Amino acid sequence: MSFKNEYVKSVYENVAAKNAHQKEYLQAVREVLESLEPVIEKRPDFVKAGILEQIVEPERTISFRVTWMDDAGKIHVNKGFRVQYNSAIGPYKGGLRLHPSVNEGVIKFLGFEQIFKNSLTSLPMGGGKGGSDFDPKGKSDAEVMRFCQAFMTELQKHIGADTDVPAGDIGVGAREIGYMFGQYKKLRDEFVGVLTGKGLSFGGSLARTQATGYGLCYFTDEMLKAAGKSFKGATVVVSGSGNVAIYAVEKATQLGAKVIAMSDSNGYIVDEDGIDLDLVKQIKEVERKRIKEYVAVKKNAKYTEGCKGIWTVKCDIALPCATQNELDLDGAKALVANGVYAVAEGANMPSTPEAVECFQKSGVLFGPAKAANAGGVATSGLEMSQNSMRYSWTFEEVDEKLHGIMVNIYKNASAAAKEYGMEGNLVAGANIAGFLKVAEAMKAQGI
Ligand code: NDP
Repeated sequence: MSFKNEYVKSVYENVAAKNAHQKEYLQAVREVLESLEPVIEKRPDFVKAGILEQIVEPERTISFRVTWMDDAGKIHVNKGFRVQYNSAIGPYKGGLRLHPSVNEGVIKFLGFEQIFKNSLTSLPMGGGKGGSDFDPKGKSDAEVMRFCQAFMTELQKHIGADTDVPAGDIGVGAREIGYMFGQYKKLRDEFVGVLTGKGLSFGGSLARTQATGYGLCYFTDEMLKAAGKSFKGATVVVSGSGNVAIYAVEKATQLGAKVIAMSDSNGYIVDEDGIDLDLVKQIKEVERKRIKEYVAVKKNAKYTEGCKGIWTVKCDIALPCATQNELDLDGAKALVANGVYAVAEGANMPSTPEAVECFQKSGVLFGPAKAANAGGVATSGLEMSQNSMRYSWTFEEVDEKLHGIMVNIYKNASAAAKEYGMEGNLVAGANIAGFLKVAEAMKAQGI
């Protein structure tokens, strides 16, 4: 796609000129701005209020040094980031990622997407994201703890239950959130809901662990239903084997599908008998080992080195749940050639723009990340509500609210796409629906 509106194009070109080396960030900004063109044509008041120029620029970018000591007494230095992108509709909210690929551009892409995703949930949450290029893989619990404490020692100066509420993302699960929460409490001497994804014994919400994966399947189910299809009897491929992937497999299976493939950053497994999720949980959640261990137990299953090959596995529904740009044009073509009829994104921006275009041109139902994976942050929002009330809902209560939120997201994205003449295009619909609420709030609050 290319820009048709000269004003929108000039906003993008300005961002591109100033952030030339931040390719993931530019990819995310371009996709959103392209789909907002019809809105801008209809709303000169947004142009006059400079909404686009403001929304692409983070309110604040914090970059800091994280120094920690390993078990052998060696000193290590990592980069830490928090991008507080937009607070028009609520406190900044978004996860923390610990992965060697983290840099400012990656955090800005995630923070920018988060603005629209959080708006789509209908909960009062602004957009933010953070993380570090620290690699938790292969580190001892004590090393992870020391890193998390060092990271929070600086981050705590910038966050708060009514200011900015981080959560987990790649490399940040219950263990890391626990260590960070402990350090925040020690330094600030307050027990507040400043992080979400906490353990159940200290303010966590039931169903938060499952929320992104479950929410992805609830969204996909709505999308399938609208096309007269369902998970029942469908063959599904899920990339990744982390938090999102595991609970997407669990819910897809509960909804009657057979999941036959999963992966990690080294390779993928195929089990035509259906993935044994208890075994995957044992390997990935308990033992923190590689997915290839699966075939040592399941003799009928097959392991292939290299993760991109997973898209050549024949399936009806594909759920990319690992990382950005993991599904490229070759992967999309292979899926389409094998008859895939729905793709929904559990990870953030897992499909390249060329892959998205291929799905849309081939008539494949496509659920974009900021709508399809919003269940995680939505349930984080529910955790914040419970913390404020000093109360907890049951698993069923949270799950029911999550389900309702995902159904609404589908309906709103679908209705916005139709209203702006792009029926069925959920990429545009999600961007537009998410944008409108934030833009109205920004305009109302003045510059
Ligand atoms: P986890 O750290 O739990 O799992 C990540 C999974 O993706 C692992 O299987 C990992 O494999 C794989 N992976 C990571 N990097 C790469 C890479 N460069 N190439 C291939 N595979 C890779 O993270 P989550 O499950 O929490 O997050 C997955 C995605 O979902 C991310 O895009 C995240 O932003 C998004 N997301 C997460 C939410 C949440 O609530 N957790 C909410 C909304 C979106 P390995 O073990 O080999 O590293």
